[in-house]
Amino acid sequence: MSSETASLLNGKALAQKIQGELKITVENLQGKIGRPPGLAVIMVGDNPASAVYVRNKEKACAKVGIASFGRHLPTETPQEEVEALIHQLNADERVDGILVQLPLPPHLDTVKLLHAIAPEKDADGLHPMNLGHLIRGEDGLRSCTPAGVMRLLEEYNLDVAGKHAVVVGRSILVGKPLSLMLLEKNATVTMAHSRTADLGEMTRQGDIIIAAVGKPNLITGEMVKPGAVAIDVGINRIMTEEGKSKLVGDFEFNSVSQVSSYITPVPGGVGPMTVAMLLQNTVLSYQKFQ
Ligand code: NAP
Repeated sequence: MSSETASLLNGKALAQKIQGELKITVENLQGKIGRPPGLAVIMVGDNPASAVYVRNKEKACAKVGIASFGRHLPTETPQEEVEALIHQLNADERVDGILVQLPLPPHLDTVKLLHAIAPEKDADGLHPMNLGHLIRGEDGLRSCTPAGVMRLLEEYNLDVAGKHAVVVGRSILVGKPLSLMLLEKNATVTMAHSRTADLGEMTRQGDIIIAAVGKPNLITGEMVKPGAVAIDVGINRIMTEEGKSKLVGDFEFNSVSQVSSYITPVPGGVGPMTVAMLLQNTVLSYQKFQ
């Protein structure tokens, strides 16, 4: 018998609701603007996980009426060719958002490619200009995964103001921008990482704990304060005892869900919110044309 106490933060349902709202926005604007919004997802190589992500993004685009201008390039494509494609998409008026699916093959300079994207088409919110806007508290395109986490907290009326948020992981993709977004909403933020001396001591202080690490079962129930909100960004593929492949997060779900008040499932929590925020960023860029 399960003694689960935490309520689930249902990112899948919220993502569907957001997509429904975006579909209506797109329908209303299309007549005025004279074309649908467009998103170009650039994938280089054949990373199987990336292929699944790209397919999901394109499917989600189709659902809300965003045209896909995706390009799949061979693994050995030289840097100049990918850059040239980005410049071409920057100039293409049918394209409102451009995303380079990461990780890229090792011969490519990821940072240089991300910098080549026009900041106003930076659907992933990873261009230094948009990260700069975030740090200054100005409007701009926000990174999708952290924005998805903030939107999920908002939907469940989990006000972060005055709360102690412990963010585990400090990547430029998730941990750092998320810490800034929490700070912007008046949380007191602690950032933990691989060099944090006693992770459990830190996480036990968190009213909100966000794990963005990529290590299955890193955070267990005894590392969580009773009643805390647990947000799991981690996506890890593991083999079960029965030899089946399964996706899990960074929290040990069974023990953490017995002490926390809310928890995101993996899958079905933060993942779908990332896609919803990508579509939202694309529609935001599109709206500038109205
Ligand atoms: P990343 O760039 O590898 O960063 C991982 C972070 O975790 C680093 O800051 C690292 O610290 C820290 N870390 C590693 N081991 C640790 C430990 N034992 N204790 C505490 N901190 C530790 O990864 P990422 O791109 O941020 O992604 C993190 C996870 O989120 C992955 O599982 C990824 O698949 C997932 N993800 C999910 C979504 C989604 O849509 N749900 C989106 C993006 C990423 P150092 O900085 O000290 O090395």
